[in-house]
Amino acid sequence: MKRTVILKVNSERPEMDKIRAAAKIIREGGLVAFPTETVYGLGADALNPEAVREIYTAKNRPLDNPIIVHISDKRDAYRLARELPENIDEIMRLWPGPLTVILKASEIVPRETTGGLDTVAIRMPSHKVALALIRESRVPIAAPSANLAGRPSPTTAEHVKQDLDGRIDMILDAGPTKIGVESTVVDLTSKPPRVLRPGGFPFEDLKCVIKDLRLYPSVMADREIRIEQPPSPGMKHRHYAPKAKLILVEGRMETLVDKIQELVNKYRCEKRRVGVLSTDETKHLYRADVVKSLGSRKDPACMAKNLFRLLREFDEEQVDVIIAEGVPMRNLGLAIMNRLRKASGFNIVKV
Ligand code: AMP
Ligand code: MG
Repeated sequence: MKRTVILKVNSERPEMDKIRAAAKIIREGGLVAFPTETVYGLGADALNPEAVREIYTAKNRPLDNPIIVHISDKRDAYRLARELPENIDEIMRLWPGPLTVILKASEIVPRETTGGLDTVAIRMPSHKVALALIRESRVPIAAPSANLAGRPSPTTAEHVKQDLDGRIDMILDAGPTKIGVESTVVDLTSKPPRVLRPGGFPFEDLKCVIKDLRLYPSVMADREIRIEQPPSPGMKHRHYAPKAKLILVEGRMETLVDKIQELVNKYRCEKRRVGVLSTDETKHLYRADVVKSLGSRKDPACMAKNLFRLLREFDEEQVDVIIAEGVPMRNLGLAIMNRLRKASGFNIVKV
């Protein structure tokens, strides 16, 4: 057991003594959880193989699942990657932000960081605490989401504590994260470039800069697709799942509500505690043990921000079954539906 130190830090003007204390841990090969604009990350020195191995241990993460490298200076991308595509400067203009690019890895990146692949995932976050920590550490920081493998990603320091207290050295607490879902991951080594994971950077906006961009088929899959060698190993592992069984109901809003209420009644007859993950437009229509709203269906960014927090809350309220409404797939709705489908283990009802 480690003693996990939790430091509150100002999200706009991070106190430098606290950042320095965290950076010292990173430089000495330790683990620090820190806020980014997407979710909280669990950071280690990306160029130190032993330190990165500790991330896998702390999270119980499968060893073949590579980790995103976070930088504070675009020039670092040229040290970490090789054979960069022609339009890389144009793409990097979208940084800092919730966008991760996959490039061919240079020889300085250890296999622990790339999960044994010859590619590396790189992102420059915009959160002031994240940028200050990377800068002060003077090394790129490898950081997956700071949750136990398979659990919903943490959007507050409290979520990190629930999963990793006693397993890591420090948590920097700067309040809830802004975006609430992980970064968009785009593979720039394939032709045409493909989105491997929809996330905080909307596909529609990215397509304006990368004209021939495609969505990798499993991104939108509504059933399990068996891929022998997935381009992103994270794809094949169970993800984002609350402890409760989650059923996702997809379809038009009018029919959706009736179907969900029917399922609620069925499970309640079986003496199960049932929760509904609804939206502002429909919340008042349900009778269940717990009803929560993601936010307005017209505001995908707000729904994304609430998603992982609400999944954890259902667990705290000891719900056995969560029945979730599908939401429109535009803008951040694509990332929300990708997470809900995976969290359900593709237990999807279409109406
Ligand atoms: P997370 O643990 O939430 O940070 O997830 C990181 C995601 O990025 C996982 O789905 C990984 O599989 C993916 N990823 C990281 N590095 C690579 C890489 N070199 N090639 C493809 N996917 C990657
Ligand atoms: Mg994760």
